[in-house]
Amino acid sequence: MKPVLALVGRPNVGKSTLFNRLTKSRDAIVADFAGLTRDRHYGNARFDKHEFIVIDTGGFEPTADNGIYKEMARQTQQAVAEADVVVFVVDARGGISAQDHDIANYLRRLGKPTILVANKAEGMKEGAQLVEFYELGLGEVLPVSASHGQGIRDMMAQALAPLNLADPDEEDAEADNGIIKLAVAGRPNVGKSTLINTWLGEERLVAFDMPGTTRDAISVPFERNGQMFELIDTAGLRRKGKVFEAIEKFSVVKTLQAIESANVVLLLLDATQGVTDQDAHIAGYILESGRAVVVAVNKWDAVDSYQRELLMRSIETRLPFLKFAAMHFISAKKRQGLGPLWGAIAQAHKAAMCKMPTPLLTRLLLEAVQFQSPQRGGMYRPKLRYAHQGGMNPPIIVIHGNSLEHVTETYKRFLEGRFRKAFNLEGTPLRIEMKTSS
Ligand code: GDP
Ligand code: GDP
Repeated sequence: MKPVLALVGRPNVGKSTLFNRLTKSRDAIVADFAGLTRDRHYGNARFDKHEFIVIDTGGFEPTADNGIYKEMARQTQQAVAEADVVVFVVDARGGISAQDHDIANYLRRLGKPTILVANKAEGMKEGAQLVEFYELGLGEVLPVSASHGQGIRDMMAQALAPLNLADPDEEDAEADNGIIKLAVAGRPNVGKSTLINTWLGEERLVAFDMPGTTRDAISVPFERNGQMFELIDTAGLRRKGKVFEAIEKFSVVKTLQAIESANVVLLLLDATQGVTDQDAHIAGYILESGRAVVVAVNKWDAVDSYQRELLMRSIETRLPFLKFAAMHFISAKKRQGLGPLWGAIAQAHKAAMCKMPTPLLTRLLLEAVQFQSPQRGGMYRPKLRYAHQGGMNPPIIVIHGNSLEHVTETYKRFLEGRFRKAFNLEGTPLRIEMKTSS
């Protein structure tokens, strides 16, 4: 599971600026997709080899008179509770306020790894002004400047140190063991528990115990027609004996972690509700994670043809970036349309794990260029020379050449289309990166 880092602090200390700095590299990818609404409060970030989830607890606004617990939005409290490490941000220029004391008291009682950072510290002399923050009783104060990008590396090294993160390169070695890690994602009430219970009641699906998985963890290894699956920690559900039931609290963090640990995500939508903002957010996270996706529109039994028509249109306009995914219309309750999901999941997994040999990729690239060469960008004509595979799940194609920064988005999409067709990539996002050598 990716670790979770929560940014807390009173308003205006620079939390969102810090959030943007930590997450910006990933945002660039998502920004390419029109129609994608983003929940600004959650983002993916990377420090050295480690990927983690950042939460900007923007709603943390205690007031002096009624104390911190009442004012803290439930969501925010939940986010802090779910975080592995808390970064408490204070204002190096503004000094300590009563709110800072309240927050510090709360965090001390929480007993989580917490680091204290004094933001807006650019151009300040080391030491002197920061001494007062030791009063908060949270130990060392790290000076940072979110807007100038200073002290961020030190901050991240300190924040992640207590978590003893494993080297992700070593973990990758066991990644492709033939088991498809599957997560069922969707907002509350779309029918996740109904679907999973229907599945687990199927004769063809054989659940088994896998060493290393605890009984109460919500992770079910199973086999179906010879293919092994692991239904991973499905967000928002609780296991009660043999059946799953939805828990009231919807956790964005758990959803994100489930998505991140999966190879394939089954995104469930509710035909009776259309595509909501929350659906679009979840879809956005899946896209950002690079996981393979199958879309299942549930409760198809409960809508008439007019509603179906509306729904199809709302999917087209609100989730246009999921065009690469197969879409199925199902009824978990009436057990309709469920069979074909398995084929789609297997296809998405195969596509996500696709191996693309360099000679073949390069040949496809050169054929594409011959069919249609990239436009000139000012004085420069991009020269695409060869391509190699830079990763799996999602597949990444790295193109090498000259003046590649002038390759247009349209041209990239043209290339994407050719690669998708050649490798049959239905179900997985595909990333194309340009490595220019001049
Ligand atoms: P939040 O309410 O805690 O999320 O704070 P914001 O990120 O919205 O920042 C509040 C204000 O502080 C904005 O005007 C930012 O431009 C400014 N700010 C953020 N980081 C820095 C910094 O490192 N140095 C300075 N001087 N200003 C900053
Ligand atoms: P979860 O919160 O995503 O786990 O959703 P549940 O599985 O608890 O389902 C929420 C509600 O939708 C329940 O009342 C289910 O009976 C109902 N439901 C689930 N699947 C279907 C379906 O395929 N058709 C219809 N009509 N109702 C369904």
